Amino acid sequence: MRVLVLGGTGEARDLAGRLVERGDAVVSSLAGRVSAPALPVGEVRTGGFGGVDGLAEHLVTHGYDVVVDATHPFAAQITGNAVAACGRVGVQLVRLQRPGWSRHPLAGEFTWVDDVEAARVAAEGVGVRPFLTTGRQQLETFAAWDDRYVLARVVDPPDWAVPSSWEVLRARGPYPYAAERELLESRAVDVLLTKDSGGALTEAKLGAAHDLGVPVVVVRRPPVPDGVAVVESVGEALAAIGAKPA
Ligand code: NAP
Repeated sequence: MRVLVLGGTGEARDLAGRLVERGDAVVSSLAGRVSAPALPVGEVRTGGFGGVDGLAEHLVTHGYDVVVDATHPFAAQITGNAVAACGRVGVQLVRLQRPGWSRHPLAGEFTWVDDVEAARVAAEGVGVRPFLTTGRQQLETFAAWDDRYVLARVVDPPDWAVPSSWEVLRARGPYPYAAERELLESRAVDVLLTKDSGGALTEAKLGAAHDLGVPVVVVRRPPVPDGVAVVESVGEALAAIGAKPA
């Protein structure tokens, strides 16, 4: 099988490794957003395809049998493009998406909102020392919070001048419980904002916030387009590749 893995996640890296091991021809695709990304084994290409048309042409030119969209649950644009392009050229598409935190034992305590702007509004009613873990791309949504301490954790530095009252912490997970708890306590955080990224690597903050009585605001995932085969683990993705659609 010739497989294109749309990546940028730990699951995509694991999948590429397993595909290489089992002898499939795999190319991993990265958007090129972060500096020094963790690279999967096997061949890697970097950069956008040029929308649906570009991706469709790429699939045909390179003779792919299958695309596994293992991008982040919030990377909705590339997911939509993959659905359209694979549908157009008749290439199998599997969406690999790790389980979200809507099934987390503490999910009922969280304030769930539809987007980052709604998270800002919800958090304003709750606390004054927020911890932002909603990612670098939409950090500017919180620019008006220039009158308070804000702890913002990002992989790469913001590309705009954040208010001087903010603390920007550059880090890449995993984030263990003890360190998360210490961070929340030492900064006297009183509201945590996050996206429903799911996965174990960034989950400990939810338990730490609960144990410290810090409310949590969670941005819901964008929906997966209808008609796409969704799997939640690398093992399921391996089984689905090449299988006839149900
Ligand atoms: P996005 O908004 O869904 O996509 C925007 C454009 O970036 C796409 O239209 C595509 O450009 C290009 N692109 C995205 N992922 C690509 C990939 N894997 N390979 C080649 N081109 C890609 O994506 P995003 O939210 O900016 O995420 C970009 C990357 O970061 C993804 O690979 C994702 O897995 C990773 N990531 C995202 C988040 C997040 O919170 N969004 C968090 C962690 C990691 P063209 O239209 O030109 O093809």
